[in-house]
Amino acid sequence: MMQGSKFIWLDNKLVDWEKAKVHPMTHSLHYGDAVFEGVRFYKTEKGTAIFRLKEHVDRLFHSASAFDMKVPLSNREAFNAIKEAVKANGIEEGYIRPFLFFGEKMGLNNIDLEAHFSVIVIPWGSYLGENAVRVKTSKFIRIHPSSSLMTAKISGHYANSILASADAKKAGFDEALLLDYKGNIAEGPGENFFIIKDGKLITPKPGTILPGITRDSIFKIAKDEGIETVETDLTLNDAYGADEAFFTGTAAEVTLIESLDNKKIGDGKGKIGEKLKQIYKSAVRGKDKRYLGWLELVK
Ligand code: PMP
Repeated sequence: MMQGSKFIWLDNKLVDWEKAKVHPMTHSLHYGDAVFEGVRFYKTEKGTAIFRLKEHVDRLFHSASAFDMKVPLSNREAFNAIKEAVKANGIEEGYIRPFLFFGEKMGLNNIDLEAHFSVIVIPWGSYLGENAVRVKTSKFIRIHPSSSLMTAKISGHYANSILASADAKKAGFDEALLLDYKGNIAEGPGENFFIIKDGKLITPKPGTILPGITRDSIFKIAKDEGIETVETDLTLNDAYGADEAFFTGTAAEVTLIESLDNKKIGDGKGKIGEKLKQIYKSAVRGKDKRYLGWLELVK
């Protein structure tokens, strides 16, 4: 079994990694009715800092509300448990996976089922690598917004993501891009999508996407750099004709896109994207004073 770190937070305390176990009857394991977060923490001059922890915990509770889940702890307690889990593991930089899932039961009804909370902390480098990636439009479309609550980070949504991602990788690409039911661009399997055209930053409007916290951070950084951001419908032709494109996400951070469906985007490098990527990198490590408010120091 993989041993990612020393301790996992489970329900109300830290337990040894190998002692954190769930039963095969676990409802969420069968039906995907769990919710989770992906959060990163970084080494800064002042110590280890968790990036935008408040926003991630708020989104976790928003996601849980999709199932009327009776979360066994308060927002503040979850916030503190995540900090404790990071502190206890003594890892300098890595990834945090807060997770809320329903306990043991057969059948689709999860009302009155007890919910569990866990926090995994592991070292995890760049998700898609440092270089610009080659992307393929997926044959799988993103989930219809009337089929679920797309602002929630629900485990079951990731079956769609995994199918798209596996399909792209089998075809020799680095990542997939999913369209929505109208044929507009939605998002990557675990990333939001942006293009740059004539100096403007353009990204799909909310509806079929998870409105990412990295996406929001890029909005703020772009504004501070005097770059206009537009949230609108984006077609594949918009993307093929873009000057630049990139993905954003907690795991992927800012990942530049070299080509889409083997068509090179701009010169495949991305000047504005690269600039935003470097500012984001500085922000998460406390090197850009403008964004220190996004960091939660673990003490
Ligand atoms: N879309 C999907 C489907 C995702 O899984 C993620 C990663 N959480 C994102 C977008 C980006 O969200 P964030 O920037 O909050 O990590």
